[in-house]
Amino acid sequence: MKKEPIEAKELAVDKRISGFEEVVLGYSEKEALAESFRCIQCKNPTCISGCPVNINIKEFILQVTRKDYAGAYFTIRKTNNFPSICGRVCPAEYQCRKACVLDKSKFAYCSPEAINIHFLERFVGDYGMRNNLEAPIEKDTKSSKTKVAVVGSGPAGLCYAGELARKGAAVVVFEGLQSCGGVLRYGIPNFRLPREILDYEINYLAKLGVEFKTNVLVGKTVSLDELFQQGFSRIFLGLGAGVPSFLGIKGENLCNVYSANEFLTRINLMSAHKFPEYHTPVNIGEHILIIGGGNTAMDAARSALRLQNMRGLKPDVRIIYRRTELELPARRLEIEHAKEEGIKFEFLAQPKEFKGNDQGFVRKLICLRSELAEPDSSGRRRPVVIKESEFELDCDLCVMAVGLKANQLLIKATPELKTNQDADIIVNPESMESSIKGVYAGGDIVGGEGTIIEAMGMAKKAARSIIDNT
Ligand SMILES: Cc1cc2nc3c(=O)[nH]c(=O)nc-3n(C[C@H](O)[C@H](O)[C@H](O)COP(=O)(O)OP(=O)(O)OC[C@H]3O[C@@H](n4cnc5c(N)ncnc54)[C@H](O)[C@@H]3O)c2cc1C
Repeated sequence: MKKEPIEAKELAVDKRISGFEEVVLGYSEKEALAESFRCIQCKNPTCISGCPVNINIKEFILQVTRKDYAGAYFTIRKTNNFPSICGRVCPAEYQCRKACVLDKSKFAYCSPEAINIHFLERFVGDYGMRNNLEAPIEKDTKSSKTKVAVVGSGPAGLCYAGELARKGAAVVVFEGLQSCGGVLRYGIPNFRLPREILDYEINYLAKLGVEFKTNVLVGKTVSLDELFQQGFSRIFLGLGAGVPSFLGIKGENLCNVYSANEFLTRINLMSAHKFPEYHTPVNIGEHILIIGGGNTAMDAARSALRLQNMRGLKPDVRIIYRRTELELPARRLEIEHAKEEGIKFEFLAQPKEFKGNDQGFVRKLICLRSELAEPDSSGRRRPVVIKESEFELDCDLCVMAVGLKANQLLIKATPELKTNQDADIIVNPESMESSIKGVYAGGDIVGGEGTIIEAMGMAKKAARSIIDNT
């Protein structure tokens, strides 16, 4: 008998749109078991190669069928340091699930029939967390002698720190912001990734002996040379891509045109949604436009809608995207959630110019219609503007979510660090070592905007090259 896919339960729409509570509730044990029995345990499990850190998916799902949840946890932890995080935010539909033999979709993302690997990973990760299961520490004498500095505490930096701390190295993480986590803290909202999960993982690293120094901007507070002089023999750069891009169109400097970075950081890091209890307000309008179609755009739109509801305004949030729904790069689940929550979409639209009022506040966005031509270098069909197709939209708050690029601060302070035309750090792809001996890099600062699991994959590779060569 064909077994239907088990979807995870979710918070009802009316309960979620006036707060930042987690939306996806995850599996119960019964649901996890039912989903695990759908896995056909392929002889050649293609899902494993679909995962950037090659989790032994077949094995951990088999362990779930046997109710050996601790065993499943340790299987995942062998290659993935943060199962509860990845089980919540990995774009599995484009990665491991897309490689599942049960997938029937002709698109870049999988169909619902593919095993819900991410929900199973989350179930197992949360079991490990609830039961304080600790991944084995494999101290080795070579690494124990190494003193390592990690710059940046996003998924790349945290993963690298964990890899080396478990081998016994003395690890210090330097983070420019006041709290650790990178995008996991200041970008992704609590309704997708509750802060307790992130805090648990950071505390776990602290228990392993990792030292965290926040409010330290490497390149300004301390240089790489000074870190070497302080006795660090290796440095890992997990700087991310924290600088927002803009479109360069007229009126972009008007008041209430935010970058998604600023908008989300004010909410996630500085609790703007709890103003006046917290002292960092964020403006909110009656007609909100979000430009872009990635995860950042969905997070900004869904956060803005929650703020409108919390302030008693009639929700009106619209995403402006120059291609169609099919090409939206965001996770499919986030797109569905955005729609359910009442976010509107304006597809095939390109912003041309903002218009403001006499006080310099944004009031309108002028757009042009686009149509799709042949695929471009990204593999997606290229949007082409249709002449004389202008239309205008009311807008008293706009959030630009059109991409991120590398922060130049440390790179400019360290001219020996070679970068490419996008200002990303150039590394040896095997060892992840940069142009400076002993300085390694990984995550978005190397590959440009990517995913959490890809950042972790690079960090693991960099850690491996130290572990193997000390
Ligand atoms: C809003 C948003 C939502 C996203 N959603 C998803 C998702 O659902 N799934 C997914 O897989 N990916 C998602 N991504 C992408 C993912 O978050 C990134 O690919 C990932 O965080 C990159 O990790 P990283 O460690 O390289 O960098 P980051 O997470 O950016 O961390 C870099 C850290 O380095 C610090 N830093 C930088 N320079 C210095 C310095 N000189 N000194 C000290 N510290 C420094 C920064 O303050 C930051 O804390 C999202 C991205 C955004 C912005």
